[in-house]
Amino acid sequence: MKVPLTVIDHLRRAEQVYGHRTAFIDEPDQPAESWGTQTYAEMARRARAQAAALDKLGIPQGARVAVVSQNSARLLTSFFGVSAYGRILAPINFRLSADEVAYIVDHCGAEVLIVDPELDDSLRKVSAKHRFVIGAESDELLYDYSSEPRPWTPDEDATATINYTSGTTARPKGVQLTHRNIWLNSATFGWHMGVNDRDVYLHTLPQFHCNGWGMVYAVTAMGGTHVVLRKVDGQEILRRVDKHGVTLLCGAPAVANAIIDASSQFGSRVPGKGTVRIVVAGAPPPSKTIERVETELGWQFHQIYGLTETSPVLTINSPRLETDHLTPAERSVVLSAAGVPTIGTETATNSEGEVLARSNTVMDGYWNQPDATDAAIMNGFFHTGDGGSINDGHVLIISDRKKDVIISGGENVSSIEVEDALFSHPEVTEVAVIGIPDDKWGELVLGLVVKAPDSKLSEEDLIAYCRTKIAAYKCPKKVEFRSELARTATGKLQKFKLRAPYWDGYTKQVN
Ligand code: AMP
Repeated sequence: MKVPLTVIDHLRRAEQVYGHRTAFIDEPDQPAESWGTQTYAEMARRARAQAAALDKLGIPQGARVAVVSQNSARLLTSFFGVSAYGRILAPINFRLSADEVAYIVDHCGAEVLIVDPELDDSLRKVSAKHRFVIGAESDELLYDYSSEPRPWTPDEDATATINYTSGTTARPKGVQLTHRNIWLNSATFGWHMGVNDRDVYLHTLPQFHCNGWGMVYAVTAMGGTHVVLRKVDGQEILRRVDKHGVTLLCGAPAVANAIIDASSQFGSRVPGKGTVRIVVAGAPPPSKTIERVETELGWQFHQIYGLTETSPVLTINSPRLETDHLTPAERSVVLSAAGVPTIGTETATNSEGEVLARSNTVMDGYWNQPDATDAAIMNGFFHTGDGGSINDGHVLIISDRKKDVIISGGENVSSIEVEDALFSHPEVTEVAVIGIPDDKWGELVLGLVVKAPDSKLSEEDLIAYCRTKIAAYKCPKKVEFRSELARTATGKLQKFKLRAPYWDGYTKQVN
């Protein structure tokens, strides 16, 4: 028997088995009326009502519904209300400019656009056939409780969501994730993380970012509780962990750092000590961050690696039995690798050192961009664009975005490795390492550093410190201090922006 794997399975199970349980605690502090605390029976009723309302509006199955919103219970429910009844959800990064959002809405041909009230003004010119601003008024139109949704013949190969990738100079590409991609990512991620019915999951990750990496589905399927958080703030995260008994959260390394920095206010009584698992990805986590998660928060650190194109989880690094006897500092080094393949994933590197992956979680393709799809998926492998190596035959180490590798004096330098060394200095709060053109070295390793307030650290001190950590040829020849560094909405350094002024006038971005 083959039963199609579709996203409705997650919510259907939650409704059947855990109908009386709390499904979500919506963000109380938001411009629309909060949905408060609701059960899985109610969440499923709202998802059906959303599908029925879309039927009434005449939105056909297969049509796209775009939502531009900060995290909210309404967006969470849309992952089911839209996709589970045969339409395609396009959750859009709420930090994008009006032009970028307009491009995406147009590119995916969204018939419905749903916008957070706070973004209504800035996105006023972005329109679709039907445009709604989230709130009590539009709830009347977007949720029809009087009829049942039109049935959809489940098709696991149908596209469930289109997630536009961010962070490059080119126009974003629409990653088409099928029901099957999402289902298998949810199952394997949930399995590896031991997601269970006692979990209370805090949405520190933007829900638009690869569907909250899949936890939107995995936590629902197991009947865990979703605690919706609209804005990332270290102190507020710790308060919510305390208030709701949060056990699981995900985020970029910058989120982990924000929590660590806020934790000193809680003294020895950091919420979630011994009970919280934090999953970090999106950028390489510095080993200092990993160590502090264990020693200062008392939380368990997990790392995953993947891309929107891979649903996303490809590899995982969890504290293993074999590392129990290590000190936190030693364990942080082990945990700083991207990790080992999840079940069903095969990783490899090609002759150029690019990381390749083969898995049931690799996307169907880029929406309406067959050439880009063919360039990304070749010979049965997805080409990640990340540089890396595989140790001991199975442990993936990410060394750089392929285009970020620095070649200095003929040697390859991994900017990630240098960043980790610089960041381990106690007075360094943020760091980016880039290559800049240089007559002698070809490319010279430059460290851009944000110092802790009041730090007197000098360029020479920091370079000397770095030499105690890594080989001299990898160490920055120059360090510049900055007040902040350009990052994307999902916490990634925008190295092309940081590099641009140094490469002005050069035709190539390598030297
Ligand atoms: P996105 O599609 O926006 O999720 O971005 C995916 C990219 O984030 C990957 O290609 C990597 O460059 C980076 N990334 C994700 N997870 C990790 C990780 N654990 N370590 C290093 N880089 C990561």
